[in-house]
Amino acid sequence: MLRAIVIGGGIAGSFISHFLQETGVDVLMISEKTTYPPIGLIHSMLLRFDTDMELAKRTLEIYRSLDCCSWVLKEYPAYTFIGEEVDINKYIRLWSSYGSDSREITIEEASKLMGIKLMPGGRAIISKDRLVNIAGIVNHIRSRVKVINGFARLKRNAAGFSALVNGTEYRGDIIIVAAGAINGKLLGDAGVSVPLKSYGCRALLLLVGPKLDKAIIYDYVNHFYMRPATPLTASIGDEESPLVDPLNMPNLVTPDFITSMKNSFKSRFGKTPISLLGRQGACESSPDMFPIIGEAATDLYIMGALNGYGAEIGPALAEALVSIVLGGKPRLDVSRYLLSRYAGAVFPSDWEIGHEPHEVL
Ligand SMILES: Cc1cc2nc3c(=O)[nH]c(=O)nc-3n(C[C@H](O)[C@H](O)[C@H](O)COP(=O)(O)OP(=O)(O)OC[C@H]3O[C@@H](n4cnc5c(N)ncnc54)[C@H](O)[C@@H]3O)c2cc1C
Repeated sequence: MLRAIVIGGGIAGSFISHFLQETGVDVLMISEKTTYPPIGLIHSMLLRFDTDMELAKRTLEIYRSLDCCSWVLKEYPAYTFIGEEVDINKYIRLWSSYGSDSREITIEEASKLMGIKLMPGGRAIISKDRLVNIAGIVNHIRSRVKVINGFARLKRNAAGFSALVNGTEYRGDIIIVAAGAINGKLLGDAGVSVPLKSYGCRALLLLVGPKLDKAIIYDYVNHFYMRPATPLTASIGDEESPLVDPLNMPNLVTPDFITSMKNSFKSRFGKTPISLLGRQGACESSPDMFPIIGEAATDLYIMGALNGYGAEIGPALAEALVSIVLGGKPRLDVSRYLLSRYAGAVFPSDWEIGHEPHEVL
C-alpha cells in the first residue's frame, strides 16, 4: 500500500488527504491547527477565467457530496459593481453559462433590492453566490484521517525526503507539501526551488445593520468585497497584497487599512460604518498568480499559491493532484496550474504580486 505524508492541514492538505484516503492510500497528515473563521469563506462562481470556473464548479459538487457539519453552503444575492470600461456582457455570459444566473441592473434597482440607497459609480450585476463552512469541513476531514499535530520541517537526505516534527522523522513513499504560505520556506530550506511568494490577506468586521448583512458584494469600482458574517455584521476586505514573512507576520489591520475600508464602504453606501474587529493571514502566489500543483522533486509534490480563492478551487485542484500522484488523468484540464509550466523558466525573485485571478478586471 502506498504511504503518503501530507504537510499542512488547511484546505489543500485536508482535501488531498481526503482524496488519497478514499483511493486506499495510507495517509498521514501533519499539521498545526487551522484557523478558518466559523462564519465561512466565500465560494464564488463569479470568477474571471473559465478554467477557474470549471474548478469552482467541481469544488461545489465536492462540497455538496460531503456528509458533514451543521451547514456546508449558504447562498446569498451577490452584487458586482464594475467600471464603465469593462465588458460587462462578457461576465454576464460566462457566469450565466455556469449556472449563476446574472443580469445587469441599474444602481437604482440595486438600491431597491438591497433596501439601502447606493451611491453611483460603475455598472451593477446581480447574481447569486455563497459562503462555505470551511472551518467545519476541514475539522470533519481532520477527524477522519491520521493526524500528527505539530510543525513539520522538510528534510532531504540520500534516500529522498522526510518530515521532521519535534525531533521525530516521518517517512513515506511520497510527501506532499500543502502548507499554505509556508510552502516556499519549507521547500527552500530543503533545497527545492518553487516560485512562491507570501503576501498578507486581511479583513475587517463591520456593523452594517439588517440589510447589508444578507448580501455578498464585489465592488471593483471602490476596491472592496464584503460578505455576511453574523447578524447585523459583514466582513470587508481589500485588493492590496503587502508582502509578508508568514512566520513573522506584521500587524496588517493598521489604522490606515481601517480608514481605507471605511472610506470604500462610504463611497458605495454613503455612510461611515463602525468597525469591530480585524482578521489577517498569509496568502501565497506564484509569478502568474495561478495556483501550483505537481511534482517538485522525485516523490515530492506541492500544492500551493491558492491566493485568496482557496475555498473556491482548492478541493477540485486537490482532487486533480491526487490523480496525478496516482498516475491517473485528472477529470479536468489542469494544465494551467501544473508546476511544470515553470520548468526551465527564469523568473526574477522580485516579481510583483498582481491581481488575484478571481478578481474581475
Ligand atoms: C482574511 C482572509 C480572508 C480570506 N477569505 C477568503 C474567501 O472568502 N474565500 C476563499 O476562497 N479564500 C479566502 N482566503 C484565502 C484562503 O484562506 C486561502 O486561499 C486558503 O486558506 C489556502 O489554503 P491552504 O491549505 O493552501 O493554506 P492554509 O489555509 O494556510 O493552510 C495551511 C495549514 O498548514 C499548517 N501548516 C503550515 N506550515 C506547516 C508546517 N510546516 N507543518 C505543519 N503544519 C503547517 C497551517 O497551520 C495551516 O493550518 C482568505 C484569506 C484570509 C487571510
